[in-house]
Amino acid sequence: MHPGVLHRRFLSDLSTSLFSFVLPLLPTSEELTIKEEVRTLIEKLIKTIEPSARLLSFGSSCNSFGLRNSDMDLVVLIDDPEAALDPSTFVAMIGDLLERETNFDVKPLPKARIPIIKLNLAASPGLPFGIACDIGIENRLAIENTRLLLTYATIDPARVRTLVLFLKVWAKRRRINSPYRGTLSSYGITLMVLFFLVHVKQPPVLPNLQRIAPVRPITEEEMMLEGRNVYFFDDVEMLRQEWSSINFESVGELLIDFFRYFSHDFQFNTMVLSLRAGPLTKESKGWTNDIDVGGLNEMARDRNRLCIEDPFEITYNVARTVTKDGLYTIRGEFMRATRILTQRPERAVLALAELCR
Ligand code: ATP
Ligand code: MG
Repeated sequence: MHPGVLHRRFLSDLSTSLFSFVLPLLPTSEELTIKEEVRTLIEKLIKTIEPSARLLSFGSSCNSFGLRNSDMDLVVLIDDPEAALDPSTFVAMIGDLLERETNFDVKPLPKARIPIIKLNLAASPGLPFGIACDIGIENRLAIENTRLLLTYATIDPARVRTLVLFLKVWAKRRRINSPYRGTLSSYGITLMVLFFLVHVKQPPVLPNLQRIAPVRPITEEEMMLEGRNVYFFDDVEMLRQEWSSINFESVGELLIDFFRYFSHDFQFNTMVLSLRAGPLTKESKGWTNDIDVGGLNEMARDRNRLCIEDPFEITYNVARTVTKDGLYTIRGEFMRATRILTQRPERAVLALAELCR
């Protein structure tokens, strides 16, 4: 058969295999129900301490990039400005309450830099592996960035969700999804994929939601949260009607190109990935590593190896946990993936299995 025909067949096979790969890894409806019940129960308890408090989910439980058994990210928002509770005290109080009133395994960390409560729910028929849960206080930016990610997913779910979900699984299986061990958070990986779809692909697969003007004028107050501009175009109905990408590449083609771009084209040493603004230089953001500065510890020196700008907290490098070795491993994995997918493997499903081995 002609190599072109073989290649086209492989690409269409790859897309189908990606959908089938991801499908059984999605959370079951039972899991989602239990998580929601747990959230409601904890919210009710927290309201006995502070009636104006609400407990919201963020992260992958509600950005549509959740996998089966992924942790639960929760945040307490206190609406009453008169409620003078500092986060440490509040964390200690909630910790005591949950220890008394539930049989969850509770670990409050009131003295941590960002005070949180860690919970572990034991395994049950609907949750065969139990669930890990973190409860933070007043992290309103996390709610906004979750909404941004969800809006991007909603524009083109078949391609965007499939790509992100697959790459999250790939990163976990290849062990490059451990911020505590010098590699990437899931949030960082997701931002890389969105950056690729908004700024690298031509024509773009997704519009830049932070650069679409609002339909009605919005006030400074609506736009700002904790001193950050959190505006993005979030009218999903209108996006569905008005935005249609003229990029028709299949999810398989996009995956290969994603790996290729981060293997060969992206300049990790000098560039910053910004979903908000496109590629930026480290220099323009002042995110260079002063290797020569004496006394800097290893961690400070490593802080800007890989630079991913947070969409709203633009002075914050989401990938600051990535070390020199971590980046070396990550880049090695991009190259390995490119090699596997471009060596004309016989069957796409085998290539995916090999990729995630
Ligand atoms: P997973 O399914 O692996 O739990 P996730 O989408 O929940 O994936 P996490 O990395 O757990 O991703 O992040 C959850 C949320 O926490 C993100 O939506 C973001 O709001 C916040 N977050 C996580 N990591 C960072 C980070 N490095 N910098 C800033 N915010 C982060
Ligand atoms: Mg999470």
